[in-house]
Amino acid sequence: MLDSNSPNKKPLIYYCVIAVALILLFNALIFPAMIRGSVKQIAYSEFLSMVDAGRVKEVSLSEDGDQIAFLATDEEGNDAVYTTVVFPDDGLTNRLESAGVTFSSQISKQNSPLINFIFSWVLPIGIFMLLGRFLMRGLEKRGMPGNAMSFGKANAKIYAESETGVTFDNVAGEEEAKEALVEIVDFLHSPEKYAAIGAKLPKGALLVGPPGTGKTLLAKAVAGEAHVPFFSISGSEFVEMFVGMGAAKVRDLFKQANEKAPCIVFIDEIDTIGKKRDAGSGLGGNDEREQTLNQLLTEMDGFDGKKGVVILAATNRPESLDPALLRPGRFDRRIPVQLPDLAGRVAILKVHAREVRMAPGVDFEAVARATSGASGAELANIINEAALRAVRLGRDTVEQGDLEESVETVIAGYQRKNAVMSQRERQIVSYHEIGHALVAAKQQNSAPVAKITIIPRTSGALGYTMQVDQDEHFLMDQEEMANKIATLTGGQAAEKLVFGRITTGASNDIEQATKLARGMVARYGMSDEFGMVALETVNNQYLGGDTSLICAQATAEKIDQQVVRIVKEAREKADRILRENEPKLHELAKFLLEKETITGQEFMDILNR
Ligand code: ADP
Ligand code: ZN
Repeated sequence: MLDSNSPNKKPLIYYCVIAVALILLFNALIFPAMIRGSVKQIAYSEFLSMVDAGRVKEVSLSEDGDQIAFLATDEEGNDAVYTTVVFPDDGLTNRLESAGVTFSSQISKQNSPLINFIFSWVLPIGIFMLLGRFLMRGLEKRGMPGNAMSFGKANAKIYAESETGVTFDNVAGEEEAKEALVEIVDFLHSPEKYAAIGAKLPKGALLVGPPGTGKTLLAKAVAGEAHVPFFSISGSEFVEMFVGMGAAKVRDLFKQANEKAPCIVFIDEIDTIGKKRDAGSGLGGNDEREQTLNQLLTEMDGFDGKKGVVILAATNRPESLDPALLRPGRFDRRIPVQLPDLAGRVAILKVHAREVRMAPGVDFEAVARATSGASGAELANIINEAALRAVRLGRDTVEQGDLEESVETVIAGYQRKNAVMSQRERQIVSYHEIGHALVAAKQQNSAPVAKITIIPRTSGALGYTMQVDQDEHFLMDQEEMANKIATLTGGQAAEKLVFGRITTGASNDIEQATKLARGMVARYGMSDEFGMVALETVNNQYLGGDTSLICAQATAEKIDQQVVRIVKEAREKADRILRENEPKLHELAKFLLEKETITGQEFMDILNR
C-alpha cells in the first residue's frame, strides 16, 4: 500500500455543525411563530382590554368550548396567538363587533393540525434523514460502515486467500525478512502441530523499514502462502473517528479475526496509534489514541495464541513506538525490511518485468546499478513507466531505452526527497564504512563485523557497519569500551587518510563515542582520575536515558578533559590501524562500492587473503 489516504478528510464535526445550523435556519425562517414562543395564556380582563385597544384581530372558540383563542398584535407589533378562559359574558359579542374583530370557529392564522404536524415533525425529520444519508455517504467513502446501527463494527477489509494470491515469489530481495516469516507460515498451516507440543508462536511481528520496501506485500504473502484470510487495517483508520470508536474498532477487528482463525491481521502504520505515550502530560493529550492503543494491548494479551491469529504490523518509525507494544507476548519480533541492494534490485525488477512484455536481452543489472537507494515500490514504478513509454511510442515490447528513460523520470522524482548519492559520495561512504570495519576487525575483543552496506537509510545514515556479538552481552570491560570508541572514530579516520579531508558524515559516530567516553568517566569508574565515584545519574531509564551531572562545576570541566583524552587516544589508535592496513582499505572499499552490501564473511575473506 503506497498511499491509501484520500486527500481531503473533513472532520465529521463539520458535518454536524452544518446540519444543526441548517435546522436552526429552517426553523427561524419557516416557523417564526414557533421560535417566538407559541401560545400565551392571559387573564380574561386583559383580553377585554386588548379588544378595547383594538389589538385583537380574530377570535375563536376551542373545539371543546372551554377556551378562547385569539390572534392579536403583541407589544412589539407582531402577530401572536393568545388563549384565555371562557367567562360568562353576554356583552362580549357586541364588544367584539364594535371593535371590528372577526370571530370564527377557527383562527385562520393557526394552521390545521395536519399541516402543523407535517411542518413540525415530518419535515424536520425528513431533513435530518436526508442529511444523515449524505453524512453516511461521506463516511462510506472513508471506509466506514454506512449503517448507523453497525457503528461499532470495524470495517477491516477481509481478503480471502484467493484474493491475496500473493506468495513469497512475488517478493524479491528480502530474503532475511522472508526467512523470518516462514515459521509463521508454517504455524498458520498447522497450528495443531505447535499446540501439540505446547509451543506458542509470537502473537505479533513488527515489520520495520522505509516506505515502499514491501512490508504490506510481505504480510499478504504470508497469508497467501499459508492460505489463510488476510485482514488489513491502517493505524490511521483507528484514530480519525469519533471518540471511543477506535477502541471499538479494535475490539471488533479481533472478534472477527478470532472467528476466522487461523488468519493474518495486518496493521499498517502502527506508529499512528502506537506512539509513545507522553509521560509528562497526565492531562489532555491524545486520549482517543491512547484508548485505542490500550484496547489493542488488551486484545493482544487476551487472545489465545494457539488459535492461529497472527498480527503483523508495519512501521517506518520504530523508534517512536510505545515500549508497551514491544513487550513479550505482543510485537516481540522485529523483522527489518530494508531498501534492496544491487542483487535485490535486479530481482525486484525481474519480478515486475514478468508482468510486462520485455524485449529479449534487456540488461536489468544496468538499471539496478543506476538506482542505488530506490525502494521496491519505485522499481515497480520504473517498470510500469517503461511499459507506458513503449506504448506511447507504438511498440509492443519494452526496450532498454524505455527503462533508462523511466529511471530518469522516477529517480528525478524521488532524488529530491531521498537524496540518491553521487558516485563521489558513495566512494566516501564506502571508505568511511570500511574504516569502521577495519578498525573493528584489527582489534582484539571487539565484535565481529556481520554486514557492511552503503545503501542509505531513511534514518539519515548513508552507510552502516553492523557488528554482531556471538553471544548476548550484558557487560563490557574497559578495553571493549575503548575498542568500540576506536571503531566509531575509524570512519572519519579513513576519510581523512584517503581524501585528506573530512565530511559531516561522522556526526552520529562522534555522538556515540562521546557518550561512551562520558559513561566511562562519570558512571563506570573507568578513569584513574576519579575512580569509583558517581558523577552522573541516569534520569529515567525508560524515557530516553538522559543523564544529569551530580558534581561540582570544576569536576565537570575535568570530566570533559578526560572525555576528550579518551576519544583522542581512540582516534590515534584508529589512524594507526588504518595506516598499517592501507592496501586492504582500498581493496575493501572498492569491493563495497561495487557490491553495495557485503557480508562479514566476504569482508574477512578479503582481509585475510
Ligand atoms: P510498504 O508497505 O513497505 O510501504 P508495499 O508493500 O506497499 O510497501 O509496496 C508497494 C509496492 O511496491 C508493492 O505492491 C510491490 O509492487 C512493490 N514492491 C515493494 N517491495 C517489493 C519487493 N521486495 N519485491 C517486489 N515488489 C516490491
Ligand atoms: Zn560512521
